[in-house]
Amino acid sequence: MTHRKDKAEADITTHNKNPYDIVKDLLKDSVTELGLNENIYHILKKPNRVLEVSLPVRMDNGRIRNFTGYRSQHLDIIGPTKGGIRFHPNVNLDEVKALSIWMSLKSAILDLPLGGGKGGVIVDPNELSEKEIEELSRTYIRKITPIIGPQKDIPAPDVNTSPEIMGWMIDEYDQLRGYNIPGMLTGKPIIIGGSEGRLEATGRGVVLTIREAAKVLGMDLSSSTAALQGFGNVGSMAAKFLHQLGVKVVAVTDAKGGVYDKEGLDVPDLLQFVQDGYSVSEYTKADPLTNEDLFGLPVDIFIPAAIENQITKNTAPAIQAKIVAEAANGPTTPAGDEILEEKNIFVIPDILCNAGGVTVSYFEWVQNEMNYYWKAEEVNQKLEERMVFGFQNVLKIREERGIRMRNAAYTVGIKHIAQALVARGWIKDADMR
Ligand code: GLU
Repeated sequence: MTHRKDKAEADITTHNKNPYDIVKDLLKDSVTELGLNENIYHILKKPNRVLEVSLPVRMDNGRIRNFTGYRSQHLDIIGPTKGGIRFHPNVNLDEVKALSIWMSLKSAILDLPLGGGKGGVIVDPNELSEKEIEELSRTYIRKITPIIGPQKDIPAPDVNTSPEIMGWMIDEYDQLRGYNIPGMLTGKPIIIGGSEGRLEATGRGVVLTIREAAKVLGMDLSSSTAALQGFGNVGSMAAKFLHQLGVKVVAVTDAKGGVYDKEGLDVPDLLQFVQDGYSVSEYTKADPLTNEDLFGLPVDIFIPAAIENQITKNTAPAIQAKIVAEAANGPTTPAGDEILEEKNIFVIPDILCNAGGVTVSYFEWVQNEMNYYWKAEEVNQKLEERMVFGFQNVLKIREERGIRMRNAAYTVGIKHIAQALVARGWIKDADMR
């Protein structure tokens, strides 16, 4: 592991903010920490397959714009690869590769029979009309069709992609294949094979891990406060469930800005406001707040629920929370992480914290394959069991080895995958020692 000072200095360099470099370093550290042979690292460090696609879309003005998309499939030795598709201007190949590796680890930690996959399109969907987004979504699915399918690789929503977009995507796939194949993709609208509870699943899972962390720290959630960065699907659902538990959600931001009320925001009212199509920053029933000021608020729980590289050498020093719950993927840089560690903040790492989404996606896929559907209570109860199981396994390793939660989560995930590598004869039992 690099020394703190090196990391802090490196935070400004590209390497330290490239999520693919970050995940490779973490994999390597954990393989060493586990005393495993580095052969395992060499297998895990690269996705099995990566596809780049050209996506020409006729825009409303008649012009063709050619977007670029990717799909990365990390490892399919435990089951088909699985993971979302994001629409974002910062999408790039290394990011998609990293996100697919994180998906493998999430599934491994929660013992889901899946591998990791991820897709992305370089686009700012705010610049596109609904019709253009639909065309882009359909084109993307046509282009990646050869490598996806319910037994191969199963996409889902991610940043800026919704159940509605999943509906267009599955429709395109079904039309190409000539029949209905609901298990090809998850996060669908319920009427066409989506699961009860999927929309809320990631946020619900985040809050379940916060509940478990609070038990470890002896914190009473009903007298705790929280601040959230990001109010998309995951952030807004996390706020809803925190509010239900009696946590005072005092601050929320989105890409355009945020709001603060030290007495606690009226979360149901804010949820409705955002559902009506407004930005959090336009909400006038609380004080305005900038994204920078969010980090330094005196709260017990801080939840990054936006994108990568938010908790950095620059923002981490201000954080006062006892718990940082990583609802986003890769929100903390290594230098930011060192600072959280020094401040003795309990970090619930992304690959555990936000794994509720893929868990209910797995349930959706199971229901699609058997063509028989569960009620919301059953889905939610199964989700809770998985999240608690994953949390407890990671916590146990943290305590046994005296390592931080993030390294413990990598350790649990890598060990699980390594066992499958042995079972398939890719590595020898000796590599496990
Ligand atoms: N995009 C989500 C994630 O990063 C969910 C993936 C899925 O449901 O397959 O975990």
